[in-house]
Amino acid sequence: MEKVVVIGSGCAGWTAALYTARANLQPLVLMGGQPGGLLTTTSIVENYPGFPEGVDGFELMSRMQKQAERFGARAQFGTVEAVDFSKRPFALTVDGERVEAETVIIATGAGHRDLGLASEHKLETKGVTYCATCDGALPVFRNQPLVVVGGGDSACEEALYLTRFGSVVYLIHRRDSLRASKIMADRALSNPKIKLVWDSVVTEVLDVKLDKVTGVRLKNVKTGAENMLDCAGVFVAIGHVPNTRIFKGQINLDENGYIIPAQGAATNVTGVFVAGDCSDHVYRQAITAAGMGCAAAIEAERFLAAQS
Ligand code: NAP
Repeated sequence: MEKVVVIGSGCAGWTAALYTARANLQPLVLMGGQPGGLLTTTSIVENYPGFPEGVDGFELMSRMQKQAERFGARAQFGTVEAVDFSKRPFALTVDGERVEAETVIIATGAGHRDLGLASEHKLETKGVTYCATCDGALPVFRNQPLVVVGGGDSACEEALYLTRFGSVVYLIHRRDSLRASKIMADRALSNPKIKLVWDSVVTEVLDVKLDKVTGVRLKNVKTGAENMLDCAGVFVAIGHVPNTRIFKGQINLDENGYIIPAQGAATNVTGVFVAGDCSDHVYRQAITAAGMGCAAAIEAERFLAAQS
C-alpha cells in the first residue's frame, strides 16, 4: 500500500513528489507516456525563476526528478489505464498491474491539440509534427519551407527555433493578431525568416498520396479564398488538451476536460488532490504547475496526518 501516488512526472508531479518525499511519505511517481512532461519537448525555458541564462526543458525536469529522488521519491515507468476512487484505499491500474494508495495526486498535465484533419494524421511523422525541438533538426526539413500553425507562445517559439533549419517559416494564424506574449510576438514578427499568414486555417495537409508533406491547403477565414503553400514540414502548435480521460465519471471535470478543484488542491474525492496543467487552463506555466504541485503535496500530507 502506497501512502502517496503521484500520477504524472512534469513540473507539478515532481514538485509534489519532492514535498511529499521530504515529509517522509516515500511517494511513488507514475511517470506516464511522456516522462518529464511537456517541458521536455521545449528548448530553452527562459521564465523559470533561478535560471538567469535560461535552462533546457529536459535538463530542468531531470534536475527536478533527481531532487525528489534524493529525498526518497520513487519513479516508476508506466501509464495509468484506470482508477477506482469509489473507496479507500484507491486502486490504480498501471500497465495491467494494480497499485493501491491512501492518497493520490493527479498531475497528468496536458497533451498537444491537433487540427482534427484526416490528412494531418495520415502524415504524422511523415512531415507533420507537434514538436519542433524534437523534430526540427531532421534532414528532411533542412533548407526547406516550413509551416507552423498557431498564434500563441508555443507557435512563436517553434517558428523562431525552426528559422535555424528552414529556408523560410510560414506562421499560419486564424486571426489577425497573435495571442503570444509581447516579447515572443515581437521576436517572431521581427524575424526576417518568419512570414505571417493571417486569418488563415489549414484545411488539408498535402500530399497523402505521396505519403509525405509537400504543402498545405489554406483557407482565408475572412474572404473564403483558398490557396496552396509548398512546404516540407507542418508543425502544429495550437495549444493543449488536458490528460484527464481516465478520471471521467469519478473526478469533476469542466466541459473542456480540465479537473475542477473543489477547494485549493482538493478534488471532489476526499484524499485525491490535483496539480498543474490538467486543472489549469488559465496560467499553464512551469512555475505555476510547480506551485500547484507543492500545494497538493502539503494538502496530501495534512490529510494523511489527520487520518493517523
Ligand atoms: P495557447 O496560448 O492556448 O495558444 C494556442 C494558439 O493556437 C492560439 O493562437 C489559438 O488561436 C490557436 N488555435 C487553437 N485551436 C486552433 C485550431 N483548431 N486551429 C487553428 N488555430 C488554433 O497555447 P500555447 O501557445 O501552447 O501556450 C500555452 C501556455 O504556455 C501559455 O500560457 C503560454 O504563455 C505558455 N508558453 C510560454 C512560452 C514562453 O514563454 N517561452 C512558450 C510556450 C508556451 P486564437 O488565438 O485565435 O485562440
